[in-house]
Amino acid sequence: MIKDNVKRILNELPPHVSLVGAAKTRTPAEIQEAVAAGLKIIGENYVQEAEKAFQMVGTAAKWHMIGHLQSNKAKKTVPLFDMIETVDSLKLGRAIDKACQSLGKTMPILIEINSGEEMQKAGVMPDAAVSLIRELSELSFIRVMGLMTMGPYGDPEASRLYFQKTKKLFDTVKAMDLPRVEMRYLSMGMSDSYKIAVEEGANMVRIGTKLFGQR
Ligand SMILES: *Cc1c(COP(=O)(O)O)cnc(C)c1O
Repeated sequence: MIKDNVKRILNELPPHVSLVGAAKTRTPAEIQEAVAAGLKIIGENYVQEAEKAFQMVGTAAKWHMIGHLQSNKAKKTVPLFDMIETVDSLKLGRAIDKACQSLGKTMPILIEINSGEEMQKAGVMPDAAVSLIRELSELSFIRVMGLMTMGPYGDPEASRLYFQKTKKLFDTVKAMDLPRVEMRYLSMGMSDSYKIAVEEGANMVRIGTKLFGQR
């Protein structure tokens, strides 16, 4: 079943859109099945789950951190992951940079935008994004490569506004042509909202339930 879901969604997505399989709570065998069906990127929320799945799947897919990350977890996160989609502070960026330096690795990162401007939510407020990106761009071992957003929880059609807002910010930063900043990826949309996100300019979608079934 996972196999069919992966194939169907890969077929359905326009070719410029990358599929991230959001794998939280899934077993390594389920993740392996998705990769065997053609999934190229696995999104993990927790380092420990990723480490377990990595033992089975290894480098057959790329690994993206999509969960909220505390700076003190950067050191454990960096060795395994190919991209961190959830950077929302200079403190976290510095911790990733430092961990990368000791491994001689450069980490592509996305900036998580709190597009709903919700107090309790992760992500940088849209107004503060440009100055954060400028600061992060000075760190040698990370590379800003785009934006990610979740949007407020609720009716998928209501997310459209937040996707539009994030796309606008993406275009603004891109047009600034900041040194060492490459605005290539816009990661938005989940199982119930990815079609809307793609309509609004996402080129990376993070899908869990529609690939792996209900959690
Ligand atoms: C779980 C998760 C998703 C996918 O959610 P579904 O509704 O299961 O598709 C996407 N992004 C993040 C950050 C997640 O934690």
